[in-house]
Amino acid sequence: MGLLATLRGMSNKGRWKLASWTIIGTAGCVGVAIVINVMFFRAYGEEVLIRALLSAVVIPIILAGPLFFYLTLKLRELVIANYKLADAAAIDFLTKCLNRGAFSKRVEDWLTHRGDESASPSGALLVIDADHFKKINDRFGHHEGDVALKAIADAIQSVVRKDDLVGRLGGEEFGVFLPGATERAAASVAERIRHAVSDVAFVPRSKECRLSVSVGCAAFDRKTGFSELFRVADERLYEAKNAGRNCVVFGALGEAPQPIALMH
Ligand code: GH3
Ligand code: MG
Ligand code: MG
Repeated sequence: MGLLATLRGMSNKGRWKLASWTIIGTAGCVGVAIVINVMFFRAYGEEVLIRALLSAVVIPIILAGPLFFYLTLKLRELVIANYKLADAAAIDFLTKCLNRGAFSKRVEDWLTHRGDESASPSGALLVIDADHFKKINDRFGHHEGDVALKAIADAIQSVVRKDDLVGRLGGEEFGVFLPGATERAAASVAERIRHAVSDVAFVPRSKECRLSVSVGCAAFDRKTGFSELFRVADERLYEAKNAGRNCVVFGALGEAPQPIALMH
């Protein structure tokens, strides 16, 4: 990115910081130059001292001013590049969801911090797996399989709220974390996801192909950790698969799971 483009893209606060660092840095250099020149030239009379002081002001302004301006701008570019890199490292390239590592870390962070703040933190984890996905790859090829995966991810993203977390846990499996959701609310989000996926218009090679997902849901209203939530949600996903797929099995931690919405 060119310096001018960086400058244009900066907020007023960023420009103010840039100006401050340039002025403070230059003023510091002027100060140091004045002290050194006074020490060296005060013995040579007033006229020499005045010239020395003048050069102690002018030279740092000419040299240090642009240098501080340039270095501060470069430092800012580096900070922005670091933010972008951290973002890219957290995002799954194909589906644009969080990747497994970033998803589990953010859920764990929420469970740790909110769990400490609130006496009874609540929420739910959904584990969602595309049904018979191998067949889609086998019939239409891996590229079309990727298109279907992206469409499933978009359908999931389209029905959740801004504060919910969506991650690709691996392959054709996704996780959705619903902070603050009750068991009922989580079951209804799971149903909305299931419907949104079955409404996706996926037409590879002009052949209509229905997509579906199975969902396991674990709701909580007490302190818990990601591994416990994931284990329970994953067990319920397994039950949803055994119940015939394209369905949701939900329940709170420690409660008997309930199947909803079997559709064949
Ligand atoms: P089930 O309903 O039991 O989940 O059946 P399934 O076929 O979906 O499950 P299985 O575990 O047998 O196969 C998963 C398939 O998902 C196989 C693998 O090739 C495919 N898959 C995993 N990741 C990707 C991907 O990134 N792109 C594509 N196109 N396919 C993928
Ligand atoms: Mg599958
Ligand atoms: Mg799977």
